[in-house]
Amino acid sequence: MDISENKAILYSDKTPSDTQRERLLAFLRSKHNVDDYDFIEDLSIKDGFKLMVGDEVYDWTNEGRLRQLKNFIETLGGKENYVPLLRGAVNKWKPDAVVEEIGRVTRVGDGIAAVSGLDSAEYGEILLFENGVKGMALDLKENEIGCVLFDRDQDVMQGSTVSRSGKVAGMPVGEEFIGRVIDALGNPIDEKGEIKVEKYFPIEHHAPGIIDRQSVNTPLETGILAIDSMFPIGRGQRELIIGDRQTGKTSIAIDTILNQNGKGVICIYVAIGQKASSVSGIVNTLEKYGAMNYTTVVSSTASDPSPLQYIAPYSGCTLAEYFMNLGHDVLIVYDDLSKHAVAYRSLSLILGRKPGREAYPGDIFYLHSRLLERSANMADNRGGGSITALPIVETQAGDVSAYIPTNVISITDGQLYLESDLFFSGQRPAINVGLSVSRVGGNAQSKAVKSASGSLRLDLAQYRELAAFMQFAGDLDENTKKQLDYGSCLMRMLRQKQHMPYSRHRIIIILIVTLSHLMSAVKDEDYEEVISLICTDIERNYLQVCHSINEEGKLTEEMKKTILSSAAETIKNYG
Ligand code: ATP
Ligand code: MG
Repeated sequence: MDISENKAILYSDKTPSDTQRERLLAFLRSKHNVDDYDFIEDLSIKDGFKLMVGDEVYDWTNEGRLRQLKNFIETLGGKENYVPLLRGAVNKWKPDAVVEEIGRVTRVGDGIAAVSGLDSAEYGEILLFENGVKGMALDLKENEIGCVLFDRDQDVMQGSTVSRSGKVAGMPVGEEFIGRVIDALGNPIDEKGEIKVEKYFPIEHHAPGIIDRQSVNTPLETGILAIDSMFPIGRGQRELIIGDRQTGKTSIAIDTILNQNGKGVICIYVAIGQKASSVSGIVNTLEKYGAMNYTTVVSSTASDPSPLQYIAPYSGCTLAEYFMNLGHDVLIVYDDLSKHAVAYRSLSLILGRKPGREAYPGDIFYLHSRLLERSANMADNRGGGSITALPIVETQAGDVSAYIPTNVISITDGQLYLESDLFFSGQRPAINVGLSVSRVGGNAQSKAVKSASGSLRLDLAQYRELAAFMQFAGDLDENTKKQLDYGSCLMRMLRQKQHMPYSRHRIIIILIVTLSHLMSAVKDEDYEEVISLICTDIERNYLQVCHSINEEGKLTEEMKKTILSSAAETIKNYG
């Protein structure tokens, strides 16, 4: 339909009377400089008129007035106490001939609708379709808008009307979101009832500026020995977990969440494009270990439309920001950003954007950088909260030089590189010590752990070189053999069971005892039992030592000696 500026169309179920016609014409002349209108009989209008001039619609129907009343009541806010609100609303309310900008769907398919006529819609604005479907304007062309739909596209027809909401995509936030499982739009999906919403925040938000931040200075302990000792993570840091499929990426993130129990860190786990069964498995694990008390799960599964997968991490981040601004420390896991990039790529291709490298659109780097830049350690005069991000990226056959992995590696402050070979050889968590790094966490690492880790990385590097060199050597001299034994003992130390994060004093005890070569005498299969005996003995006999380590982060030479002598005693008794 061609709707030109100078043409008015009147819809009604009956022809207007002469007086009504006069008034309509006078209105048209004064407001729009239009002299006449076409009349279209529309039996769906029960009572009243709808007048359309260009993009503008004047709604004088009963239905329209009721809608106005409804909107008005909604703007008053508040969910509980409806009666006084209603009374006030009815008293205050005057029906008005509203001007509403209306567009029409010209094409629909693949979760995208092309809309014509909404000239002043903004980028990212939520558009409302006739039967309640919501969408987001993502592509603003000269005479058409590309809109991604948050519901099934079967419910949207070609020719149906679309109106503006005047709001960009937002996310409800509030304290009550803790402990809940929600979808990408913030709706609860765990059947635990409604969530009390405190505020709505736009899902896209500027990252805090440099003045608002302080450098990373407090550790965020994962409870995983290999990470806390060699690749420490600080609050406010972004540490990438990268590796092929099924290498234990999710497990590291989940164990880190489990380790935050009692540490006052609020956790948010964002599932992007995963199987619903994996997400429910994760929720079960979190519940089993009591971690749901401080965790929110934002779930967008593979069966959700790609727009929902696309906004899920932003929604999660918005919730995280809400808590950060209240001064809390937040840990957020994006699992995973490769699927996020794929969802965005499909959106972009359907919207008709030019494909670039690996068919990703040109702004794919910005997609992830504007998300991860929102992690921060806020300055004390800004509340002192923080968001620590653990984004996950899946590689194909260990190829870290692919497009998305290189992008995310360059955005983050370090990466934990997981390897299939290590994983299948039983070295789990399968962290490749040579390729992993934490660029800023060193400043945040507790002094005690730092001093206990000593030359661990160096020793491991020497061991790797020696092992590679000696792979084909027949007989080894005593010294080399000793070194290899020590190296494999270190590798044994880095193995850790799932869902069993270590407390800080345990990490320190294990490090001190193993790095002092005490454990080289212990057989591989006995390692775990012996180390756990050593720890319980020290916890029983030298509680003060554990306490000093945990509470004050202190580790004196005296304490080291105590630990070593107690360990030697335990090993002697064991043998
Ligand atoms: P996907 O690519 O499917 O997302 P992923 O890399 O996230 O996989 P996980 O799901 O974390 O990997 O782990 C894969 C399997 O390895 C799981 O069955 C998990 O139980 C097991 N696993 C992970 N970490 C360990 C560990 N430290 N010890 C023993 N098993 C582990
Ligand atoms: Mg996973």
